[in-house]
Amino acid sequence: MRRGLTILVDYHLHTKLCKHAQGEPGDYLVMAKQKGLDEIGFADHMPVPTGYDAAHRMEIGDLEKVYFTELRKTQKKDGNPTVRIGIEADFVPGLEDVLAGVLSGFPFDYVLGSVHFIGDWGFVSRKGVGEYHRRNMDEVFREYFALVREAARTGLFDVMAHLDLIKKYAYFPDKTYDPWVWRTLEVMAEYDLCLEVNSSGLRAPVGEIYPGPRFLSLARRLGIPITLGSDAHRPGEVGWAFDRLVAAVEEAGYDKICLFHKRKRMEVSLH
Ligand SMILES: [Zn+2]
Ligand SMILES: [Zn+2]
Repeated sequence: MRRGLTILVDYHLHTKLCKHAQGEPGDYLVMAKQKGLDEIGFADHMPVPTGYDAAHRMEIGDLEKVYFTELRKTQKKDGNPTVRIGIEADFVPGLEDVLAGVLSGFPFDYVLGSVHFIGDWGFVSRKGVGEYHRRNMDEVFREYFALVREAARTGLFDVMAHLDLIKKYAYFPDKTYDPWVWRTLEVMAEYDLCLEVNSSGLRAPVGEIYPGPRFLSLARRLGIPITLGSDAHRPGEVGWAFDRLVAAVEEAGYDKICLFHKRKRMEVSLH
């Protein structure tokens, strides 16, 4: 792996508690070590006590009993790489208080904010793909980025994950959607949020990282810090295509990356 960056982190690993990932946390750790990662963070889908999207997330009772317990065991292995315990929290309008309640009740190292639903349309799942044919993509992209901006303004999250996820299945508006992304990055800068550069788009029909590489130089100019994530749902996906991620962030002029511990952000110099 090309190592222009001196610290390499993968902060977006899932566990099988979300019912759609495979492998034990220890297997992810082994893979991370093989790939030369310095730090990894698990960020499984946050349970929502009201039962929201229960098919893709753990039960609230499993958060302490299984998630923290298992990951603490992994942390104790040998400290190489360092293991952090994060969470991927879905932003859903109207559920802010429920989210805030769960987030404040557990000692997460960081919280990834993300949007996977527009109304009740789960636009990332394969089951929802037919809907792309039925909807107006200008509208869909406008609504999606409005939700991401709303999420950013809640102050609930440390990092915004897979910023332009709505492009996953490669359905696009007739007009450019770049201005929606620019506005979203401006809000992130205003609210001092970190941007996740996520390689999972390279495994999806769109075949492009999140956010698209063309947005990274604006993020850099706005002073938005970054972190890296593979969105691994199996151990073999840890550090997926990180050579391409690293090339894209370096191309945009980034020379620092963020680490998180107990929700405190640290920027580490890359050279
Ligand atoms: Zn996600
Ligand atoms: Zn994820």
